[in-house]
Formats: sequence, C-alpha cells, structure tokens
Amino acid sequence: MKRRQEMTLFERMYLFEVIRGLGITMSHLIGNFAKLVLRFVGLRKQRAIATYQYPEEQRPYPPRYRGRHRLTLHTDGSVRCTACFLCATACPARCIYIQPVEHEDPSIEKYPARYEIDTLLCVYCGYCVEACPVDAIRMDTGIHPEIYIPDPRAFVEDKETLMERSRILQGSDPESILYEHRQKMKKMEESPLDCSVD
Ligand code: SF4
Ligand code: SF4
Repeated sequence: MKRRQEMTLFERMYLFEVIRGLGITMSHLIGNFAKLVLRFVGLRKQRAIATYQYPEEQRPYPPRYRGRHRLTLHTDGSVRCTACFLCATACPARCIYIQPVEHEDPSIEKYPARYEIDTLLCVYCGYCVEACPVDAIRMDTGIHPEIYIPDPRAFVEDKETLMERSRILQGSDPESILYEHRQKMKKMEESPLDCSVD
C-alpha cells in the first residue's frame, strides 16, 4: 500500500505542477504530431497514435471476437449438429430453438429439422459454442449483427442462414467478408428502411 506523502513546497504552490503538466501534454502533442508527419511522408510504418478515426477508419476485430453464429458442415455439406440440445440448455438467454428429427442413416441418431437463434435475445456469451460436443456451432464469422428493420421476426436466424455462413467462409477469406459486411452496414445506415434481410 502506498502511504500518503506530504506535498513538497513546489507541489503546494500548484503553479509549478500546472506548468509541469502542461509540459507533459505538450511533449505528447509534439511527439504525436512528429510521428504523424513521419508516417504521412512514408518514413514510419507503425500507427502514429492509438486513436482510430471512426467511422472512416475501423479497428480490426481481435481473432477471438465472438461474431454472428454459424452451423458447421460435414464435407458432404450436411449439418454437423446432432440436435443434442446441449447448446440450448447452456444458453442463458433461452434463445436457441431446436426441432430434432430421426435421421435416415441409422449411424446418426438425430439432426435438427429446425434450428433457430433469436438474436434479439442473444447476449453473445459464446456458451453455446463451449457446450457443443461436436463443434457444430461457432461464432468465428468475424461479423456482427446488422439487421435494422423494425420487425422482430427478422432477427431470428434460421438453420439455412446459419449454414450459409459456413459455406461463405469456405469460399472466401474473412477479410473480404468483413469488408462486404461493412459496406452493407454503411448502406443500411444511409437508408435503413431500404435494407433487406439476408
Ligand atoms: S451466444 Fe450465448 S446467448 Fe447467444 S445463443 Fe449462444 S449461448 Fe445463447
Ligand atoms: S449445435 Fe452442438 S450442442 Fe447444439 S444441438 Fe447441435 S450438436 Fe448439440
């Protein structure tokens, strides 16, 4: 524990401390300005300052970012989910709805005829991903929710939507998916009533 110390005479006069504080602020200002100039003329590669000029410039998502859900697929394109309900049981928001059916293949017990996530209720905790014993659900799409139309049904993501995200990830790289997603978001922000549900 740091004990409280008596202030020195200079500290008690405040004026010197104010000048010292201004000196620190000015040194940062001049230093950051010099870094910006160096970066502008191409003599520096790293970012000059930590601030991102949002929305023109956006901070990259961390690799473990929990984005929109997807249902993973077998190599033949069928859904991996076995409708075991572990994700729905673990979900604290009770927003996963599964309708299981018997599979024609006797080696597979069940699969979900219906698998839906109500993203209006979802808190993006990732418990469903943790609970899944067969890696059938992931949140590694790198994209965030984007539906803005005033209809609660539009926020329910069905099995086909969740599977389609896996297909898109297979045929593209995450950076271009994120770029397209951001372009779409921008369009929605400019004219939210014209946006269509994906
Ligand atoms: S992220 Fe959390 S709240 Fe959302 S569906 Fe999964 S378990 Fe439920
Ligand atoms: S996603 Fe995983 S945990 Fe959820 S029902 Fe399917 S197999 Fe079970």
